Amino acid sequence: MRHVDNDMTVDNDMTAGGDMTAGIDGADDDPCLLPWAPDDGDDKFHEECGVFGIFGAADAAAHTALGLHALQHRGQEASGIVACDGGRFNMHRALGHVGANFSTPDVIQRLRGAAAIGHNRYSTSGETMLRNVQPLFADLAFGGIALAHNGNLTNALALRQGLVDRGAIFQSTMDTEVVVHLIATSQRKTLVERLIDGLTKVEGAYAFVALTDDALIGARDPHGVRPLCIGRLWGTSGEATILASETCALDIIGAEYVRDVEPGEVVVITEAGIASIKPFQPVQNRFCIFEYIYFARPDSWVDRKSVYEVRKAIGAELARESGVDADVIVPVPDSGVPAALGYAEQADIQFGLGIIRNHYVGRTFIEPTDQIRHLGVKLKHNANAAILAGKRVVLVDDSIVRGTTSMKIVEMVREAGAAEVHMRIASPPTTHSCFYGVDTPERSKLLAARHSVEDMRRLIRADSLSFVSLDGLYRAMGRTERNPERPAYCDACFTGDYPVRLTDFDATDRTGPVRSISRLAADRG
Ligand code: SF4
Repeated sequence: MRHVDNDMTVDNDMTAGGDMTAGIDGADDDPCLLPWAPDDGDDKFHEECGVFGIFGAADAAAHTALGLHALQHRGQEASGIVACDGGRFNMHRALGHVGANFSTPDVIQRLRGAAAIGHNRYSTSGETMLRNVQPLFADLAFGGIALAHNGNLTNALALRQGLVDRGAIFQSTMDTEVVVHLIATSQRKTLVERLIDGLTKVEGAYAFVALTDDALIGARDPHGVRPLCIGRLWGTSGEATILASETCALDIIGAEYVRDVEPGEVVVITEAGIASIKPFQPVQNRFCIFEYIYFARPDSWVDRKSVYEVRKAIGAELARESGVDADVIVPVPDSGVPAALGYAEQADIQFGLGIIRNHYVGRTFIEPTDQIRHLGVKLKHNANAAILAGKRVVLVDDSIVRGTTSMKIVEMVREAGAAEVHMRIASPPTTHSCFYGVDTPERSKLLAARHSVEDMRRLIRADSLSFVSLDGLYRAMGRTERNPERPAYCDACFTGDYPVRLTDFDATDRTGPVRSISRLAADRG
């Protein structure tokens, strides 16, 4: 029997509340705006997870903590690391940021081993319970396995019900646990064969990292919707191999980017090297295009494309498609900065930091009284009147989700004295929800799902509003235009063209909440 040291702690309460649209003119008369006022002024899609794994490093857990720190933007609510020293698995999982969870030497020292995997999780507060924090560990008859996952399995509930009917007992409401049970019940011989057997039964978008007592395993779904890259590090103990959601997690430990795990590929990393297995029928690649627009860090490279350069190219496309006479191009920080730079260069108009972001406002900030609740977005952003007063301003942001932040930013820029405010968005209108591992509002709460561009312009009170076209977005990716027969990316949140079946959601007649898998599982036991 293998042994796992399981050290789980709860560090803080992540709940926050507050109606941030209170006092905003225009919100009151639009029945579509008020009901979904965000509670933290952060009106964005959110990537739900980041994963990291390393094999062959003497201090694997410390490297993993650093990698997770670089991936903190992909999930801020919980993190965990499992390390393996050959026979023993050591685990620490906790709610809160990586820096808070893995900064003390005693925690890292307890995570002994030359191989480790780690996970950052983003989730709504109701689902942020410690038993849902990854990696998961299972001590099976044929070997221990730890598993961490970025993405969402769209048939997890159907599979789970089948497993429960056959006697399986689930510890969490995570779709990842379904894979653990599929491994446990597989009739195949080796752990790797059992994992692959399990993956052939799941649908959805996933990038898995798994750890056994002699291997680090990585896997991407056949369409390659979620990212996973391979890196290499030379250290005093020799060469280590790394798996990570983004290349910025390689940079932080001085590792070299080797390549991406290919769509549908399973890589098995052992003392013997990297073995590549392609167990699935090849299908069209459909990588998440929103990674380039917003999720990934701008210093990351995905599929050998610089995220920063792609964002600048989208800004240039915006300027070509919907340029307007203006005096200054202003990004909505931080995510609008590269696109605004690209717009400014293309339009040959001055770039200026007309909005300053306060980086010290976290999700846990709770406004103490009703009197100051109306401060709203100014807690996070403030207008820089020196740049804005008397100017015709083009504001550049990456996306509009509910529209609440855009509305407040436009109002703030006007109050700072701008003569005109033109909004330019570096993505097409977000009309559909994501089912592939991204925290997203229900479709009815997406501004673009219910309003024309002109209606949205009126609601956010801009002088003009334009989004980059879908073909313009593809051009910025170095393509010609979108081929509707074989789109090169997943762009479902702009088109509704979902590359992977939505089995569980369809079973609810598409009436359930978007992130319904774990919630339905919890409801139905
Ligand atoms: S629906 Fe949008 S956010 Fe979700 S995977 Fe597809 S492109 Fe990415």
